[in-house]
Amino acid sequence: MFYPCALASAMLVAGCNASPTNNTAALPETANSTTNQTMTFPVTKTDAEWRQELTPEQYRVLRQADTERPFTGLYWNTKEPGVYRCAACKQVLFTSKDKFDSGCGWPSFSDLASAKTVILRNDDSLGMRRTEVICAHCGSHLGHLFDDGPKPTGLRYCINSASLNFEKTNPPPPNPEEKK
Ligand code: FE
Repeated sequence: MFYPCALASAMLVAGCNASPTNNTAALPETANSTTNQTMTFPVTKTDAEWRQELTPEQYRVLRQADTERPFTGLYWNTKEPGVYRCAACKQVLFTSKDKFDSGCGWPSFSDLASAKTVILRNDDSLGMRRTEVICAHCGSHLGHLFDDGPKPTGLRYCINSASLNFEKTNPPPPNPEEKK
């Protein structure tokens, strides 16, 4: 399936772009931005520790909210069964069951592996309002959430490959637990 964000993606230098058309899905409520500034996470490390543990690209994306160029990451076209973990803290975030071909050049998922694995917050950078997705366990930047995904959720979690570690599973992963 090809989504309208492909054209926008081709014009991008970097960044998960908002779709030119709004769909019917309502984005989940975002966390209060003031709260985010004082938010604490189960996994907490110093900046020096993150720099030591992550590759330079992972550090730029996960800890500095950079965005990899479309169609360059490891997983944008991955179709194998498995789970996708946060590259920083190893928490399972997504499964192949919810991965779909958005045409954007970034791994795209229509749902989370389980509820409460990510936190959403408003992102007003680049002159537009977007919804940032961060890991609920370590606070690392993952990507952005849009409302132009496939049914039934209508959501598109547009995630950097650099923020993920894919773990192949065979047979396919079980049904996600604790879904909303
Ligand atoms: Fe994490």
